[in-house]
Order: sequence, then structure tokens, then C-alpha cells
Amino acid sequence: MHLRGMKAVVCGAGGFIGGHLVRSLAASGVNVIRAVDIKPLDEWYQAIDGVENLVADLKEKENCVRAASGADVVFQLAADMGGMGFIENNKALCMLSVLINTHMLLAARDAGVQRYFYSSSACVYNGDRQKDTEVTPLKEEDAYPALPEDGYGWEKLFSERMCRHFEEDFGLQCRVARFHNVYGPLGTWAGGREKAPAAMCRKVLEAKMSGRHEIEIWGDGHQTRSFMYIDDCTKGVEMIAESDILEPINLGSSELVSINQLVDIVEEIAGIKLVRHYDLNAPKGVNGRNSDNTKIVDYLGWEPSIRLKDGIAKTYEWIEKEMLSIVNA
Ligand code: NAD
Repeated sequence: MHLRGMKAVVCGAGGFIGGHLVRSLAASGVNVIRAVDIKPLDEWYQAIDGVENLVADLKEKENCVRAASGADVVFQLAADMGGMGFIENNKALCMLSVLINTHMLLAARDAGVQRYFYSSSACVYNGDRQKDTEVTPLKEEDAYPALPEDGYGWEKLFSERMCRHFEEDFGLQCRVARFHNVYGPLGTWAGGREKAPAAMCRKVLEAKMSGRHEIEIWGDGHQTRSFMYIDDCTKGVEMIAESDILEPINLGSSELVSINQLVDIVEEIAGIKLVRHYDLNAPKGVNGRNSDNTKIVDYLGWEPSIRLKDGIAKTYEWIEKEMLSIVNA
């Protein structure tokens, strides 16, 4: 299947990944007919000319029907989510995203949508496999037996499963990617929902701007992760949506770093060294997580490859501009 020329709807388009996806789909020749988000339009990170930008709560079935109408393909990225600080403290809110996923699947089925893309997460993986900072990268089959991240991860795993059964029982063609930590410009960098890369850029910038050369790090800094730059994410979403991959598949970088190494990278870009304070009581998620990319390479001959230091440099530059525009306002 080729997306080019198809009528696409992007849900969660006012958010970080959804906004970039609308832009990259349009650049790939996809006819994005509608972008949907619950946030008021002036809070969207990106809103693209020529696209119907619909502000609607997709927890409501009738809004999903409106959103899906006329679509050949639906990209479902809307979710009530954030970084570890948010998902550990808002489990019920995270699980309520099941209403979005249930109603969008029903609406897509009834609208005769040809293909449905769902954004799952590495948070579906069994926690017992993520206790060691010396991680064995997570393979797709490691999601079962199920012991996902409480709240957010359970909802993602349930919704993945719903996609599978909508395909088996109703013939709605679903494609599911498990995103691993996506970062880049035009996303959340403050306010409590931001994730580690943006939070580190902001904290280093705050230290630089204030002259107080200290930084607070959640956990002991030894916890490990991989981070995928947004351009790799949107490219992967398009490739997976077009593919014949019937099972949920990892979409993540396999460049593993500790949080301390992430701070090293940001400090180097900023040209400063900070005194590090470790908050051992802060939410920190699993000890170690990386993406095993064997399957995506087998299927697509491709995997995310943008180096962390290159992606962080662009993210840092954007957050710096945002912070300066607030200071100078
Ligand atoms: P985001 O918070 O920037 O975007 C999600 C958007 O969904 C937001 O703009 C939000 O307003 C919207 N939304 C929430 N509830 C809604 C509702 N009821 N109706 C309509 N819109 C609603 O997050 P993101 O980083 O762009 O993530 C996009 C998707 O990717 C999410 O499903 C997320 O779970 C998944 N994901 C992201 C990451 C990551 O590292 N960013 C990792 C794994 C999975």
C-alpha cells in the first residue's frame, strides 16, 4: 500500500509527534484532510495550512465519527500522556485514553477506513525485563507474559490487542508501532509532561541563564535508555503504515545511553559543566530499556539512525529560542 495521494486523518495532531507527522505526510504527497486534537488551536505545536484543524475530544464517540469521516487512513496518536513524572502520578487519566482508542477504532471501521495506524509504546514491555541498567534490548515478544508499566502501559497493551482483534474480526487493517522515547523540537519542554531529553535541555539552559551551575537529576543517573529523534519517528511511522507488518513492532533507536551520559551531551552543547544533585525519590521509570531492532531491519531494511548528539543539538537550540522568547516578552 502507498500512502501517497491517500486521504489521511491525524489524531493528536496538536501534540509533538502528531504535528510533525502531519507535516511529513504532506511533504510525502499524502492528502491530509484533517488534523484533530482536544487542545485549543493556539496551543498546537504546529498547524498546517490547507488542513482542516478540528478541535474535538476524541473520548467522545460522535467526535471520532466526525474525525474519521472521508478518511482512507487514520493515524491515531492522541493520548493523555507525558514523561515519567506524569504517567506515574496520573494512572487513571492515562487509562482513560482507552476511550479514544475504542471509539476511534469503531469509527474507523464504520467509515470504511483502509488502514489504521496506532502509536503504542515501549511501556508495554514486561517490567521484569527492565530491572538491570545493563539491558538486553527488548524484543517484540518480551511484551508477554504481560507486566507493563502500570496505568499507561496497560492501556497501550490493551489497545494494541484491540487493533489486532479489529483486524481479525472486522477486517480493519491495523499497523502498530511501539515508540521508544521520541524527542525533538516543537514538543513539550516544561510544565510537568516533558520527557527526559527536553527536561535536560531546559534544566541546563536554566542553569546557564541563571548562573547557578547546578542540576537536579531524577534517580541516580545510571538508568539507561535509547532516544529516537523525531525525523526517524515520522519516517518509521510512514514506512510501517505502508507495510504488511501485522504485529506490533519496535520503532526506536538502539543507541543506549545512561541519563548521566545524556546530561554530558547537553552540557557539551551548552559549553558548561554543572554540579549534579540526584533525587532518588523522584519518578524514574525502569532501570534500563533499549530497542531490539532485528525485526524492523528484517522487515524494512531500515532502522532509526540519527545520532543522539545531533538530535539533541537541534532540540537544545529550539528550547533555547523558546526560553529566550519568554524572557524577552
Ligand atoms: P503529546 O502529548 O505531545 O501529543 C498527544 C496529543 O493528544 C496532545 O496534543 C493531546 O492534546 C492530544 N489528546 C489528548 N487527549 C485527547 C482527546 N481526548 N482528544 C483529542 N486529542 C487528545 O504526545 P506525543 O509525544 O506527541 O505522543 C503521541 C503518541 O505517541 C501518544 O499516543 C503517545 O502515547 C505515543 N508515544 C510517545 C512517546 C514519546 O516519547 N513521545 C513514546 C511512546 C509512545
